[in-house]
Amino acid sequence: MEERVYRIRAHHGMCLAFFEGKGYSSEFTEHMAQVQKLLEKNPAVCITAEVDMICSHCPNRQGGICTAAGKVLEYDRQVLLRCGIHEGTIMPFLAFDGLVRDRILLTGGREEICGDCQWTELCRRKDREQGTCEDKSREE
Ligand code: SF4
Repeated sequence: MEERVYRIRAHHGMCLAFFEGKGYSSEFTEHMAQVQKLLEKNPAVCITAEVDMICSHCPNRQGGICTAAGKVLEYDRQVLLRCGIHEGTIMPFLAFDGLVRDRILLTGGREEICGDCQWTELCRRKDREQGTCEDKSREE
């Protein structure tokens, strides 16, 4: 039997790392929690810059596209670039997750990529709690 490959848009690697049960709607967050659980089993994922399995339950997905497409496409582009992969790359989810953590979250790059996202405060707090990124203010 052929193994299923799940589509994950690149910037959702960051959203998944910091997800704590909050989101655009209860349907969205319930589905996101299920996706997170599924991905912990390390299936193959295809990294995309289009709507994915997380978008499928988002109220911002209209007519098959994201209403914030311009903004999130740039997030995707940045994640692909920093992880050194391209759209369409297929890899085990945990390998992708590792790239996102090592090359973006641990270097403080998240703020540069999606600091204008409506959820950024939540991720900033988790950054601090988990010590994922260096607190640059302490170095000054
Ligand atoms: S806001 Fe856009 S990119 Fe984010 S989950 Fe919703 S449809 Fe997908």
